[in-house]
Amino acid sequence: MQAFRFTQVKTVDAATLEPGGRFVAGGTTLIDLMKLDVETPKQVVDINLLPLDRVEASEDGGLKIGALVRNSDLANHQDVKERYAVLSEALLSGASPQLRNMATTGGNLLQRTRCYYFRDTAYACNKRQPGSGCSAIDGFNRIHAVLGGSENCVATHPSDMAVAMMALEATVHTRGAKGERAIALNDFYLVPGSTPDRENVLEPGELITYVTLPKLPSGTRSHYLKLRDRAQYEFALASAAVVGSVEAGHVRRVRIALGGVGTRPWRSHEAEAALEGKAANEQNFRGAAEAAMRGAKPLRYNGFKIELAKRALVRTLTVTTQSA
Ligand code: SF4
Repeated sequence: MQAFRFTQVKTVDAATLEPGGRFVAGGTTLIDLMKLDVETPKQVVDINLLPLDRVEASEDGGLKIGALVRNSDLANHQDVKERYAVLSEALLSGASPQLRNMATTGGNLLQRTRCYYFRDTAYACNKRQPGSGCSAIDGFNRIHAVLGGSENCVATHPSDMAVAMMALEATVHTRGAKGERAIALNDFYLVPGSTPDRENVLEPGELITYVTLPKLPSGTRSHYLKLRDRAQYEFALASAAVVGSVEAGHVRRVRIALGGVGTRPWRSHEAEAALEGKAANEQNFRGAAEAAMRGAKPLRYNGFKIELAKRALVRTLTVTTQSA
């Protein structure tokens, strides 16, 4: 690990970064990557003392989640379990209890990819070192993306929480040199294109302060399903988050996001459009799943993910609408 300057701040106003600096909270991503020399910040600013550790009701009847709320606290919060089950389920499917006790809401949104070539400095990686090449495209790409990739990067986004928040139409609130702003989560993440090192729209030094969830229409149900190589402490090969409601046997309103298959947490407007207004049955769920994966591009080792994601979505829609 390279030497760095460490400071701690107590107010949001004081939370600024020098060029190339990084904020640290739970440290479950950053410290790992610093040990591997993948992240080499000159400055690390500890934000754990900022007053951003509360879950509160928001003015519009939704939920306001501080960026420093720990994943375990959020997963077990009564309001989250009762009103936003998809979020609790996604959080509890991620990492291990120990990691969830440390990892924060803001940090979870900013998790870096688990692409093995990104995490090993012996390999070329455009995300770690722009212009160096992508070792995954012709390498062992079983865990990589089938949606949203480019010739420069096909890494998946690893967060379960972000997939659930995508289906919940969350908003990310930030504070930076230009002041405060609110960014719809759907506009927060970038696909790799020619700049895979740029993963989201945050400006250098911009801090996530909290995330808001809208109030859901009455009768809304939700569910998260994660498929992976083992039952615990593993990242998704495919996952699905569904937030929706059924009226008289028909899908009235549905929001769908997929994990483990896209270069960003993948909201599928195509699947939503294919399903809204239709009878809640397996045939229409399958139609939505086909629509969701229509643009998928398999690599040498990950073609199985396309059918896996379709089945994950059909199952998640079935569970969600049965509970509605
Ligand atoms: Fe790097 Fe992306 Fe290629 Fe992985 S897929 S080696 S993160 S450029």
